[in-house]
Amino acid sequence: PMSLSDPVKPHRICVGVRKRPLNKKELAKKEIDVVTIPGNGALLLHEPKQKVDLTKYLENQTFHFDYSFDEDATNDLVYRFTAKPLVKTIFEGGMATCFAYGQTGSGKTHTMGGDFSGKSQNSSKGIYALAAQDVFTLLRQKRYADMDLCPYVTFFEIYNGKVFDLLNKKAKLRVLEDEKQQVNVVGLQEVPVSSVDDVIKMIERGSACRTSGQTFANASSSRSHAVLQVILRRRNFLHGKFSLVDLAGNERGTDVSSNDRHTIVETAEINRSLLALKECIRSLGQNSEHIPFRMSKLTQVLRDSFIGENSRTCMIAMISPGMNSCEYTLNTLRYSVLPA
Ligand code: ADP
Ligand code: MG
Repeated sequence: PMSLSDPVKPHRICVGVRKRPLNKKELAKKEIDVVTIPGNGALLLHEPKQKVDLTKYLENQTFHFDYSFDEDATNDLVYRFTAKPLVKTIFEGGMATCFAYGQTGSGKTHTMGGDFSGKSQNSSKGIYALAAQDVFTLLRQKRYADMDLCPYVTFFEIYNGKVFDLLNKKAKLRVLEDEKQQVNVVGLQEVPVSSVDDVIKMIERGSACRTSGQTFANASSSRSHAVLQVILRRRNFLHGKFSLVDLAGNERGTDVSSNDRHTIVETAEINRSLLALKECIRSLGQNSEHIPFRMSKLTQVLRDSFIGENSRTCMIAMISPGMNSCEYTLNTLRYSVLPA
């Protein structure tokens, strides 16, 4: 069991790691769990206790994060220590961003989208709904109620370097940068919302749009980044913005076996955008002045989340604990650990 005290005051970037339980299929295949969460932000990747014949790249290794969550952690607990401390930021006129990173099947969508269809229990809601809930709680608080803040939602997908509006029939949108380096997604639907239920409806609408119309729906959605934004406007001016990002599966990065041109282009684009994101986050972690956001569409679109005194970011690295995933797990851990 974890012993977590209150979340610390958020710094510019916070990284958490979440291990999911072995699923039925993995258990049926007698997959071996090679990940242990000893607590205090640590994650131990270890050799299996049972004697098996392995390629020898797995040595015991410990990785350290701000927070680590084991397979018993609920979405609500993960949220409380990662994205929740960032909600206040957007009321104070800042930008907040939360990324879910990891291989396909590791729990990104479970963590972000959760089981949002009509369940009232917090533990089954994802970070999208939990953050929306807190936004509306704060909107009603006395100190913010007088500020005339209006909430809106956008939901879009970035696939192969192109932006598609999930709240408007997957319309393909152009991204323009003006002379003040403000990035604009032209025509992106900003839907006014007046309750958590409104937000949940938009999540459902967008999620359905994300996976519909494709033969291999899940495979395809795992190759795109999905971005849900909760925006606060004050007399029509942007006041604060929370971007919640369900990233494309990072496993494509190591897949060089394909010779299908479409897949190669897709893979190259995912690699480019995840690398760009890593560079940006690294620069943030070092409080650097120069953030290389132009390296990809993903980081370009999220530009205003990466700049400014008031921006806060958290990254949640998702881990599949099985022996057969450990190559991807190592990639995920190496990607997410910030240099000391
Ligand atoms: P991803 O979006 O990273 O591809 P998903 O979120 O779709 O992965 O998760 C794959 C499967 O594993 C889903 O059926 C999901 O419900 C389940 N799952 C993921 N994380 C957890 C968890 N922490 N606890 C229980 N089930 C989980
Ligand atoms: Mg997913």
